[in-house]
Amino acid sequence: MPPLKALIVGGGIAGPALAHWLSRIGAHVTLIERSPQMRASGQQLDLRSQGVPMMKKMGIENAVRAARVKEPGMQLIDLHGRTKAYFPAAEGGAARQSITSDYEIMRADLVRILYALTENHTNVQHVYDTTVKSFTQDDENDPDGKVHVCFHNGQEEDYDLVVGADGTGSKTRRIMLGPDAPDPRQRRGGYIGYFSMLSQPQDSYRGTMCQLPGPRMGRAIMTRKDCAELTRIYMMTNGDDECVDEALKSGDLSQLKKALADLFEDGVWECRRFMEALRHAPEADDLYCTPFEEVRLPEGSWSKGRVVLIGDAAHSATANGFGTTYGLVGAYVLAGEIATLYEKDRSSPTAAILQGAKNYENIWRPIATAGHGGSQLFDSLASPRSQIGIRVLHTLAALAAYFRLDQKIDFEGASAKWQLPDYPALEKGNDVQVR
Ligand SMILES: Cc1cc2nc3c(=O)[nH]c(=O)nc-3n(C[C@H](O)[C@H](O)[C@H](O)COP(=O)(O)OP(=O)(O)OC[C@H]3O[C@@H](n4cnc5c(N)ncnc54)[C@H](O)[C@@H]3O)c2cc1C
Repeated sequence: MPPLKALIVGGGIAGPALAHWLSRIGAHVTLIERSPQMRASGQQLDLRSQGVPMMKKMGIENAVRAARVKEPGMQLIDLHGRTKAYFPAAEGGAARQSITSDYEIMRADLVRILYALTENHTNVQHVYDTTVKSFTQDDENDPDGKVHVCFHNGQEEDYDLVVGADGTGSKTRRIMLGPDAPDPRQRRGGYIGYFSMLSQPQDSYRGTMCQLPGPRMGRAIMTRKDCAELTRIYMMTNGDDECVDEALKSGDLSQLKKALADLFEDGVWECRRFMEALRHAPEADDLYCTPFEEVRLPEGSWSKGRVVLIGDAAHSATANGFGTTYGLVGAYVLAGEIATLYEKDRSSPTAAILQGAKNYENIWRPIATAGHGGSQLFDSLASPRSQIGIRVLHTLAALAAYFRLDQKIDFEGASAKWQLPDYPALEKGNDVQVR
């Protein structure tokens, strides 16, 4: 029998991870990315909970350790820059983490590490500047059935399996669900935006969060530093803004910079300096901004026949701290379920793909979506609009820091109690050396 032939749409975190696992069962994999080159951008990500053993299983622990950002901890400051609470980072490689994980890494570095897993693999092709225009698939009862894919450049190709790893706005999901299906993205209110700027000596290596009062919405600005030259600025709101929405819709970078700078140009702390950089400095061209939203698909709809969704495309919950971990683990569970079934019966990949995709959703969905909906109490405490609300937050945070609650409470959420499954069928491939 010819090997399983798979198309993965999206070269972010989940896509290259899946390419790695499928390559270990001898599948022929094409990984397409719509950007003209590897999209190695974004700010700090962290691996938490099962993301730690997952990374070890993938054989990338040393590469991640070598690239990790050594943030000493996270502090809350007041409008004058005075520290109100400080949470040191967790250390020692434990799965349980503080606010700063032991495995903080720049997104670009993690994307490069994941791509390197399959870079020289003869069965895996990385293709850039490519997207899928449409696809159809044969009847599920046809054991030799395929997905017939038409790419934007007019090329056509058949695959046993197509996986949408194309993020929260997934087009694969849109085509798979069909034109009449409702958009499963639900706005939670507000945005998170990130950009880089040149550092000043006063910029701390501690993650530094400042809550800003304002009548319309809760806002916070945070700085992080992973290198001497640059400071990374994070902007968060818990309310929507028409100008930001319009700018996001238009895709115009300078319009988006202006809309966000208008929203955060307070005269407090260092906001003026940060917003001046956002408006004018070339380093800020890496601005990435997204609304807080969740992908909430009805049960049983993470796959349709031979087309399956993973990562944010299946279950995004923007910036909840688990997106990277869940992207990696979901890819592993999907590959493991298919590989286990395919190993038992190699007469046709169809049955293994159809059942494997269902098993993957049954196993992984309860964990990946456990945090959906968030906590309203937590949200309102963490995003105060008034000076009094900010003082309450600082007092509670100072108490939590004093009693080290960040390491005692179940910060890791539902997935902490869940064990990564073992898939002997995935263990057989050759270990790939990561540079
Ligand atoms: C540029 C960028 C920067 C980010 N920065 C941060 C950050 O600083 N902090 C943070 O916590 N999270 C960030 N994220 C989100 C984070 O990476 C994900 O939430 C998480 O890691 C899950 O990964 P994913 O692979 O499912 O999705 P993503 O990481 O979003 O990857 C999806 C990939 O699919 C590609 N793609 C989209 N549509 C198509 C298409 N039609 N055809 C082909 N390819 C397509 C995208 O270009 C992207 O490379 C960022 C995402 C991106 C894309």
